[in-house]
Amino acid sequence: MLPMKDRFHLPEGMIYLDGNSLGPLPKSTPDAVANMLTQQWGDHLIKGWNEDDWMGQPTRVGNMVGRLIGAPEGSVPMGDTLSIKVFQALSSALDLRPDRHVVLSDSGNFPTDLYMAEGLLRSRAGDYELRVVPPEDIQAAITDEVAVVMLTQVDYRTGRMHDMAAITQAAHAAGAVMVWDLAHSAGAVPVDLHAVQCEFAVGCTYKYLNGGPGAPAFIYVRPDLIDTLDPVLCGWLGHDAPFAFEPSYRPAPGIERMRVGTPPVMQLTALEDALRIWDGIEMDDIRAASLRLSDVFIHQIETRCPEPTLVSPREGALRGSQVSFTHPEGYAVMQALIAHDVIGDYRAPNIMRFGFTPLYIDENDVSSAVDRLCGILENRLWDTPEYRATKRVT
Ligand SMILES: *Cc1c(COP(=O)(O)O)cnc(C)c1O
Repeated sequence: MLPMKDRFHLPEGMIYLDGNSLGPLPKSTPDAVANMLTQQWGDHLIKGWNEDDWMGQPTRVGNMVGRLIGAPEGSVPMGDTLSIKVFQALSSALDLRPDRHVVLSDSGNFPTDLYMAEGLLRSRAGDYELRVVPPEDIQAAITDEVAVVMLTQVDYRTGRMHDMAAITQAAHAAGAVMVWDLAHSAGAVPVDLHAVQCEFAVGCTYKYLNGGPGAPAFIYVRPDLIDTLDPVLCGWLGHDAPFAFEPSYRPAPGIERMRVGTPPVMQLTALEDALRIWDGIEMDDIRAASLRLSDVFIHQIETRCPEPTLVSPREGALRGSQVSFTHPEGYAVMQALIAHDVIGDYRAPNIMRFGFTPLYIDENDVSSAVDRLCGILENRLWDTPEYRATKRVT
């Protein structure tokens, strides 16, 4: 087992199976952030941009994320939200194929990725189309009309995982550009961007990377392409000389051009601290432990309380680091489970979702979670008006 559990603040008695949505607080983070606030912002004030290297933080932290996704040094800057990074990646991807007008995605993609694509395509001159097909039809839908294939590797609802290498290869064979969203992959499954050779990747850091609510997103651009891109979100911190205050935009050399505006220094400080937990950890070990925990969970649920139906792929190799079951009263069951201190979440329609993050979840946690879930189902503890009432955030 990975001896990392004691590095996280986990409330006594709680079993946290929602690190796929918001990772828990590392114990060291409050001091790291407090230090940034009082010693850096407090004492250094504006000098912090140089003395504390706030300006270099997006690329410094980006390199830490890069190690976990097989991205070379200097190919990943941090900043903005994932929705913005999707927009940036997709617009630059479309620029690489000006004579094609179809963006291909799948119905398992997270809605914001599709919404951002809709808005971007509406804003561009030309007759663009966003084509959305079922996940299992993706390979067949990659034709020579397609400019960009834009997919999320791990389905946020079911955990179903695309074969990054095979789909990227198919996209390239058809002359299309590949954009991967790694929201549910970074820190969850091994990713090797260098080997996959996709042009772009994006992802967020408040899920498996434990950067905290609102932690900044990342973008990766394949190094041979970076200097050819002319970013459409051309903010001043992506300019070649931000402090020359020139009237017109000239992109910075290299990956710095994917930066937009002022970096979120407090959030980056929390994230930088959280990423130190990964020093010396290999993603292959995380993956092996995550599959072991997920398989035990599936097996125990199915043998002890067969009411819920597995909607995640049964075969581990086809699944990310989460397991989902449907139940006709999934929302109420999840509310009851949360009241019993097992935190998962609910996604419409009827999906109960559980994330397995071996940094701080072990087999005892899995068994206790199953005990409580089976108890709730056997005794219909979910069947109350309180648990049926839908909250704003599910
Ligand atoms: C979590 C998630 C997002 C969230 O986007 P934000 O802009 O950070 O709110 C986007 N895309 C995918 C695939 C996600 O899983």
